[in-house]
Amino acid sequence: MKPKAFKQVEPMKYWTLHRWVRREKTKPEFCENCKIDKPRDIANISGNYQQDLNDFEWLCRKCHMQKDGRAMRFASMASHKGTNHSLSRLNERQILCIRDARKNGITYSKIAKLYGISISHAHRICFGVAWKHLNGKVKP
Ligand SMILES: [Zn+2]
Repeated sequence: MKPKAFKQVEPMKYWTLHRWVRREKTKPEFCENCKIDKPRDIANISGNYQQDLNDFEWLCRKCHMQKDGRAMRFASMASHKGTNHSLSRLNERQILCIRDARKNGITYSKIAKLYGISISHAHRICFGVAWKHLNGKVKP
């Protein structure tokens, strides 16, 4: 039986969008929510994840954590049906997504859960030990 498993369209879309917004949306001096701390993360406002800059805001880490719990829940929901312990199932796009997720501050344990891999494998992917041939190594 061919496993449908790793479609993962939703988390993928999420990170691609994030990367785009990060590039396009000017970072304000302060978090758009509390106006106190320095903004660190991009957050989607409506939860629709459309390619619309007005639907995103720059948030400090704290506000982002509070608001974005929803996004992570939805990302992990999408992965539940697909989790699988075979490492070979990851494709190159997913490897890049994993590294990107790490760059965006997602923890190794969340990445591991999301992709059905071990935490140490998530480390190795991000360090560039695994999948060395793909560029885009990120800081641990
Ligand atoms: Zn804030």
